[in-house]
Amino acid sequence: MIPAEMDAWVVARPGPIASHPLERVRIPVPEPGPGEVLVEVEVCAVCRTDLHLTEGDLPPRRPRTVPGHEVVGRVAARGPDAVRLTPGTRVGAAWLRSTCGRCRYCRRGAENLCPSSTYTGWDADGGYAGYLTVPEDYLYPLPEDVPAEKLAPLLCAGIIGYRALLRCDLPSGGRLGIYGFGASAHLTAQVAIAQGAVVHVLTRSATARELATSLGAASVGGAAEAPPEPLDAAILFAPVGELVPTALATLDRGGTLAVAGIHLSDIPPLNYQRHLFQERTLRSVTANTRADGQAYLELAQAHPPKVTTVPYPFDSADRALADLAGDRVEGAAVLMPGRS
Ligand SMILES: [Zn+2]
Ligand SMILES: [Zn+2]
Repeated sequence: MIPAEMDAWVVARPGPIASHPLERVRIPVPEPGPGEVLVEVEVCAVCRTDLHLTEGDLPPRRPRTVPGHEVVGRVAARGPDAVRLTPGTRVGAAWLRSTCGRCRYCRRGAENLCPSSTYTGWDADGGYAGYLTVPEDYLYPLPEDVPAEKLAPLLCAGIIGYRALLRCDLPSGGRLGIYGFGASAHLTAQVAIAQGAVVHVLTRSATARELATSLGAASVGGAAEAPPEPLDAAILFAPVGELVPTALATLDRGGTLAVAGIHLSDIPPLNYQRHLFQERTLRSVTANTRADGQAYLELAQAHPPKVTTVPYPFDSADRALADLAGDRVEGAAVLMPGRS
């Protein structure tokens, strides 16, 4: 049965992770509203966006919010008018929590740009908890035969990386540069390699370079190093604006750089000749549509990626974020409730 209270983490005082911005609390299990379901959390993966929210790089939208938007769980109860998912169904809750469905962006299939969109773990409580409520239309049904910790990182790291790959316009068999190699990059590289791309990985972390090599990267190097050949496309996963000119300078004529992150430090001045002329393109990636999520999860079911995870007990959410901040996580950190 559903308990009255649950364990959760909240962002109590946004600030540097060393200042302990997260607080462990007991709070009531939420009630699903109209069109929502209550989801019991199996596991929640840790995304860099959680770190940005905890440290205040992204300003809080409400006080004491529970972070976490890569949730694998089961429908535990349905609110009024929720009819799509039966209790017990295994589902994934992701970053995009709702959109208006009526604005010009929603109507043209660009719901990721909806000005009224809301986000799990930012506008509403997320998955660093025993339960959360989610509008049922924004949940993804998930397979039963895959361990939850291997599914959770797909829900943001996988989906947003997939959208970034679409946004960088990589030609068939093309040369792709990947800057930064965390949870999202390690999944995206596998999609690109499976599609026949030649992938060059540029990252400061030596263990991440080893992981990239084991997944089939054609070359690995430091973040500021030049790849061995010009690139048709590149994706910047590291939240480091100084790497934008570095990456643009490695693009071949007509190449595109997509910036995958939600937060980026300032970009230094660009030089038109060195960084943009010859029709090189710089693009951002903003969240994802549900269609992106569906397409990626179908791809992942047909060709399961190797998902590298580092499990953390639920009690250690703050340590997981500190390790992410310190580049000490290989692949994706995953919170395992009930394993303290
Ligand atoms: Zn809209
Ligand atoms: Zn995320």
